[in-house]
Amino acid sequence: MKNFPHQIFRAYDIRGEVGGALSEELAADIGRALGAEARARGVGEFVVGRDGRLSGPAISRAVAGGIRESGCDVVDIGMAPTPALYLAAGKRAGVQVTASHNPPPDNGMKIMIAGETLSGDAIQEIKRRVLEKDFGENSGGAGKLRREDALGAYQKKMTGDIHLNPEKKLKLVIDCGNGVAGAVAPTVFRELGCETVELFCEVDGNFPNHHPDPTRPENLADLIAAVKKHGADFGAAFDGDGDRLGVVAHDGEIIWPDRLMLLFAERILAERRGAEIIFDVKCSRALPRAIEKHGGVATMCKTGHSFIKNKLLETGALFAGEMSGHIFFNDRWGGFDDGIYAAARLCELLAADPRAPAEVFAALPDSVNTPEILLPMQEGENHKLVADLLAAAGEEDGAVISRIDGLRMDFPHGFGLARASNTTPALSLRFEADTRAQLEEIQAHFRKLLLRARADLELPF
Ligand SMILES: [Zn+2]
Repeated sequence: MKNFPHQIFRAYDIRGEVGGALSEELAADIGRALGAEARARGVGEFVVGRDGRLSGPAISRAVAGGIRESGCDVVDIGMAPTPALYLAAGKRAGVQVTASHNPPPDNGMKIMIAGETLSGDAIQEIKRRVLEKDFGENSGGAGKLRREDALGAYQKKMTGDIHLNPEKKLKLVIDCGNGVAGAVAPTVFRELGCETVELFCEVDGNFPNHHPDPTRPENLADLIAAVKKHGADFGAAFDGDGDRLGVVAHDGEIIWPDRLMLLFAERILAERRGAEIIFDVKCSRALPRAIEKHGGVATMCKTGHSFIKNKLLETGALFAGEMSGHIFFNDRWGGFDDGIYAAARLCELLAADPRAPAEVFAALPDSVNTPEILLPMQEGENHKLVADLLAAAGEEDGAVISRIDGLRMDFPHGFGLARASNTTPALSLRFEADTRAQLEEIQAHFRKLLLRARADLELPF
């Protein structure tokens, strides 16, 4: 098909500009394909939700219409955070109309069928169905439509699950970045008994204040200022659809997700010794060390929320997370990524700890490290370069080599990572070491490897 927007069918989800690559007609066809795929897997009911984007009502209406044409029933939950959709969908099928933290004109879909989050080949299979108009046997059928109050159920389940020590009242600032978390988070934290300061909790698809992406330090500047101003114990920032969390300590220090996971892992292992915990290749070495020290099984996984979630389901691990802020609890919660629930668990953990919250954060191990460094490349070039790097890297380099997702080399005093990003045409790099000098040594090693593979690379480190 000419001009078909192949690029919107990505590794973990579907994302494109509404009115451009993602039209309402295409959304309806994707709905038909999703319905056909669900029916082929023996699922007859699709839960449909959407985040707070301006195009949300139109796109979700189009998708729901397509699903019903396939003969599948639709349960419309309206505007809700992605984790509320996950909870509502359970073993049914679910589609969340969201473009996470993308710019306001974009929209897209996160899809799950019978507990599996669609990624990679499964998303390509949806694309094939759309391209070939393979909408199944019953494509003229009309599924039924009904509504469900998933938001209320989600809120009730969360406040029923979390128990805060009433002796230790917490004060926190929540920054919803005008994303859909604003529809539920203020109520949840108040009901839990926290003194809650709200920042940008009005849902507004124009994102007028800052980009709802807590992995970028510039998007945490308002939260840092508010935490200091109000003397809060910590600050929590959610991304546009509420499945990711960013945390700021009382003094404004950003607690990156791998250090946060370390706190959660220790707590979970104190109750469930021997539990398996999953983390992505970008995480600090301190995390697997702490997991093993506390008697757990540390499993490294490739980056990508759908990969992590599917690995969690496959292994039955009790907890998982990645550097991007997707955090999954599978001990008392449903094993899906949920930024709001993760913040509530942090409240529970801090309230139960005899130390002051500031001391808990201060006791976390730290290292010299870089954030994710992205080196833009031509589409596909990043994957070719990583393949060449993997072929050239030898064990004689004195490091433990991991090839789960790109090349990760763990040295006695640090690690380096070079992988192909799945969300942008770029090489993704990260480094960590005990000291600045060791970090530079590891970077020099990667510089040598990279330049040996591509002599003309302009490296930003
Ligand atoms: Zn998200």
